Amino acid sequence: MSRIWNFSAGPAVLPLPVLEQIRDELLDWHGAGLGVMEMSHRGKEFTAIIEQAEADLRELLAIPANYRVLFLQGGATQQFAQIPMNLLANGLANKSADYLVTGSWSKKAFKEAQRIASVRCAGSTEGAAFQSLPELATLDLDPQAAYFHLCTNETIHGVEVPPEYVLPVNVPVVADMSSHILSRPIDVSRYGLIYAGAQKNVGAAGVTLVIVREDLLGHAAPSIPSVMDYAVMAENGSMLNTPPTFSIYVAGLVFQWLKKQGGLAAIERVNIEKAALLYACIDGSAGFYRNPVAVACRSRMNVPFTLADSTLDVAFLAESKAAGLASLKGHKSFGGMRASIYNAMSLEGVRVLVDFMNDFSRRYAGTKA
Ligand SMILES: *Cc1c(COP(=O)(O)O)cnc(C)c1O
Repeated sequence: MSRIWNFSAGPAVLPLPVLEQIRDELLDWHGAGLGVMEMSHRGKEFTAIIEQAEADLRELLAIPANYRVLFLQGGATQQFAQIPMNLLANGLANKSADYLVTGSWSKKAFKEAQRIASVRCAGSTEGAAFQSLPELATLDLDPQAAYFHLCTNETIHGVEVPPEYVLPVNVPVVADMSSHILSRPIDVSRYGLIYAGAQKNVGAAGVTLVIVREDLLGHAAPSIPSVMDYAVMAENGSMLNTPPTFSIYVAGLVFQWLKKQGGLAAIERVNIEKAALLYACIDGSAGFYRNPVAVACRSRMNVPFTLADSTLDVAFLAESKAAGLASLKGHKSFGGMRASIYNAMSLEGVRVLVDFMNDFSRRYAGTKA
């Protein structure tokens, strides 16, 4: 078996020990005589799995007691609709919500919310090609907003909201953390609701984490489907219907792996080192490679970059692939390249990438493809 260095934005690389444990337990989980995929979600085995997963997530993120953890389906995309359905729709006809648009994902969230309710754009960096973050003071904020929505890591444009970024304080802040949750410690109490699809930094596709402050439950419009109502899901322990059991199990194994790494402060140190190495390679390439994002909000998880001579893109992709480096092609809306370096991508993997990039630029600098 030979595994590639996988820089996919998602579904993405998983920690090897987690995959090995899944393999070892696939046919017989802990002597139960059956695998997790085959178990009743109401049985004692799966109950233990989901309870342990929630406990570990709470420990990793230091989630306060007045927050509920939900394991939902439909991806972050479903949350784009479910959030306004729950926080904005019921008897709040005069209310609106504010959206900060800093890249493709927050733009999609804003657009989807417009199907459900009246929402406002409080600020957008689209006119400046999504390369920075506007300061809070420059935003057009509605003090009566039901919530303020932002995406704290734009997976496509590589813009990450740093912890010192000032957030509105008098309205609940709703954050799409799909592509950087668990990459660093966060202060959960700054947010009313945090959501993240699993397939970037948490595990396998199919489960979406929602961490929601209790006072935000119970405001859904009565007409919405019960599976879409956070309060109903919370009352039923995320099991109003059959939850994505296998994806919850995989997420739980990733939480345990993170605890073994020393928790989020420890994984953050590795993530800082990985990102520093890659950005130094880009910035030190004398313009051969370029990342346009303002340094203060460059993502540690998703690093988009272009080659000054885009006719070399084809050679870069072919040669990197031959060197065992996979999924480096950039998103179509950005072009160029993107290296996603989530928790499960090791420092060694980033070193291999940087060595390749340095070698490639040495060989091709000054040439025309
Ligand atoms: C991938 C991604 C999404 C969409 O996730 P789905 O699970 O495909 O719905 C939304 N927001 C961000 C920040 C993402 O990275």
